[in-house]
Amino acid sequence: MSTEVIKEIICPQCGESQKYRLYASINAQENPELKQQVLEETLFDWRCDRCNYFAAMAYPFLYSDPEKRYVICVTPAGNGRALEPTAAVKDFTKRIVKNLPELKEKILMLDAGYDDIAIELVKNALCGIIKNTYQVNRVHAYFSRVDQEEMEFAIFLPQKEAPVYHSTKLDVYKQSQEVLRALDYAEPAEFLRADARLARRLIENYQNI
Ligand SMILES: [Zn+2]
Repeated sequence: MSTEVIKEIICPQCGESQKYRLYASINAQENPELKQQVLEETLFDWRCDRCNYFAAMAYPFLYSDPEKRYVICVTPAGNGRALEPTAAVKDFTKRIVKNLPELKEKILMLDAGYDDIAIELVKNALCGIIKNTYQVNRVHAYFSRVDQEEMEFAIFLPQKEAPVYHSTKLDVYKQSQEVLRALDYAEPAEFLRADARLARRLIENYQNI
């Protein structure tokens, strides 16, 4: 079930008080329109009725997809670790992310039936290559789609607003699944932050086998 909360908001520009609808939880099956807003990254958008002032809000909520059996905790403040999974989602894939782009990425990966941790390993390898190619220290890669035998990523380079797209062979993903198997990797019972840091730790462990 999706749960909504109505809050009173004072516009920072004109001072008008108005109602803002926010969600404590979103169920992808019951509210596909909210899922769509997540995919368009507009869920947090707020516009003042009176002066048209625009703001992007950020609040924690739980996104669940009972059909695809996963639940994702969105914690913009980064305090999601305290969250205890309920018995109902015991066998679900459980993730923590900190913003809408990360949530969108997880939805794209998990809806398509891919192992998001294996994809983090692919991203880790790809980012290493990209850093060398473009001579930069920091890159952000987001899973975009799988097309034929290739997995495509949107790469954000420093000081560039638009991403560049790079693809890897699906074999790299399959090799990453092998790495997880070799590590005997098991899903933890609690919510997991499956990100670049986890990927680096897993690769380190793998190199030490
Ligand atoms: Zn206003």
